[in-house]
Amino acid sequence: MTRLANKVALITGGGSGIGKASCLLFAREGAKVVVVDLKKETAEATAREIGGNARAFGADVSKEKDAEAMVAFAEKSFGRLDVIFNNAGVFHPKDDSVTNTSGDIWDLVIDINLKGVFLGCKYAIPALLRAGGGSIINTASFVAIMGAAAPQIAYTASKGGVLAMTREIAVEFAKKNIRANALCPGPVETPLLAELLSDPARRQRRLVHIPMGRFAKAEEIANAALFLASDESSYVSGTTFLVDGAITAAYVTPE
Ligand code: NAD
Repeated sequence: MTRLANKVALITGGGSGIGKASCLLFAREGAKVVVVDLKKETAEATAREIGGNARAFGADVSKEKDAEAMVAFAEKSFGRLDVIFNNAGVFHPKDDSVTNTSGDIWDLVIDINLKGVFLGCKYAIPALLRAGGGSIINTASFVAIMGAAAPQIAYTASKGGVLAMTREIAVEFAKKNIRANALCPGPVETPLLAELLSDPARRQRRLVHIPMGRFAKAEEIANAALFLASDESSYVSGTTFLVDGAITAAYVTPE
């Protein structure tokens, strides 16, 4: 399996969920992987599972110094950077309706989900240019393009920002051989949504809107990230890359 042979990929949030599944898959496809997570021990566990072609790095993506250091670490470890997957994100239980979400929760979510992606791009792009080009994958969400009556205002706003920012990066760097795509998953069974989905009523409230009638698995999102990371997607840039079980295509879902 060599779809990512000779590529170095940095994946944030690599200690859990979509990020972890992507680290394992990218490594199986021949990439050297830098696993970044706020919880360093989880990044180390993912890297251990991969073996010699992975390195772990503890970083808070919302902190400028950490973002700079993680990219420097990738270049120092493996000599170059070809792919950055800005995947780390949070979903806060107190992130709710616009009328009762505190400014502090807003700041926290925007700092990680939006500023974190900005900083990842800011420091990765010069490294990608040094490597002759590369692929940026920024995790947004289907909520970047659809409203929900079960609100999470800061999360939704952060993902809308990621989508718009990614388009602009794609256009600005198109002639420099850098592609940038926003990966927009539907709901995925990962620790991020574990609490929400453990409540049968809240689970059903969401399930009813998914034509496929099930949530995604992290590996299904990782497969899409793999395509965007590889040269198979060489003419794909600036997209809203939906992997959502047809949620955004639906008006009425099947019984
Ligand atoms: P997860 O909670 O399983 O994993 C997220 C990882 O990010 C964790 O390991 C966490 O420690 C890390 N992280 C959190 N804050 C960080 C920070 N400041 N710096 C570095 N690492 C940090 O979540 P997941 O479901 O795998 O989500 C990954 C991405 O996918 C997120 O951006 C999320 O918003 C997005 N997403 C998830 C779903 C879903 O339903 N699970 C749907 C759409 C989009």
